[in-house]
Amino acid sequence: MRAAVFEGEGRLVVRDVDDPLPGPDEVLLEVEACGICGSDVQIINVPPGHPSTPPVVIGHEFVGWVRAVGDAVQGVPIGTRVVVDPDPKCGACEPCRSGRPANCVNIVALGVHRDGALARFVTAPADSVYRIDPGVPAEMAALVEPLACVVNGTNRAAIRPGESVVVFGAGTIGCLFIAVFRASGAGRIVAVEPSSVRAEVARAVGADLALSPEDWAARRGGLLPQGADVVVDAVGSVLPQAIEAAGMGGRIVVFGMNGNARPPVHQIEIVEKGLTILGSYISNFTFPAAIRLVEGGRLNLAPMITAVIPIDETLAGIDRLRSGEAVKVVITP
Ligand SMILES: [Zn+2]
Ligand SMILES: [Zn+2]
Repeated sequence: MRAAVFEGEGRLVVRDVDDPLPGPDEVLLEVEACGICGSDVQIINVPPGHPSTPPVVIGHEFVGWVRAVGDAVQGVPIGTRVVVDPDPKCGACEPCRSGRPANCVNIVALGVHRDGALARFVTAPADSVYRIDPGVPAEMAALVEPLACVVNGTNRAAIRPGESVVVFGAGTIGCLFIAVFRASGAGRIVAVEPSSVRAEVARAVGADLALSPEDWAARRGGLLPQGADVVVDAVGSVLPQAIEAAGMGGRIVVFGMNGNARPPVHQIEIVEKGLTILGSYISNFTFPAAIRLVEGGRLNLAPMITAVIPIDETLAGIDRLRSGEAVKVVITP
């Protein structure tokens, strides 16, 4: 089968590999669609902004069909359409048993440390799959995984009706935050995004305003004189700007993944404003909610899909993401 394989040191190659076989507790899935994530781009960057274990088939935001199951698997019928939690939690470690599976210490992430879904077939632990309605368009179903991660972040932000929001970065994650906050009754939502293409999508999914960083700096005093109640860093390197944007008692969700970011932080502002800083990046019992949101059509996510392309064009898709001129690029293997 064709697969997008990360071979180390910035090298991503689309080539033929052997079809995988499911282990006793695993299912074999035929991939229908798989999104390219910002963390995939970080894996390929030199130096990498996200760890991985090459050689590995990347891709973790996907929907597929169960084609075979291991000997020990029960309750997952062949032919079921599923989305997958690519960060399978063990259920046995201290964080899992304390109700914080996002902090599981035994996660072996699909598409990062074991083979993922930028390929025709992928195997996954049977207890990491979730049924999804066959009527949901494939590219929407592929958004369930990042949405489940974002719902964990919005749950942690615990937004109340009418609260103001600033979201830095209007890629996939930023746009999903905007859509969920809008559906949750937020007041004014401002996106800060240098790309005019992404800014347009941010407005389409629910932002009242989408401004360049320069325009935000010039206008923020007039737009949100008290500062924002909730701020999201969906870039992964703008915590100082997020602290500056937050009002008294504000909550900041730091979400973006960039292992190279070490910005200087003016920490007395955290003290004086009484800020709460919430780190978040994967799902936490949030797949069922994300599936319901997508199946029910509760969010306007269609504007986020920039392109649906075949697997042999994966490298071109990654270039589009790097350029900032794309939000979500989806691959059909
Ligand atoms: Zn991702
Ligand atoms: Zn665990």
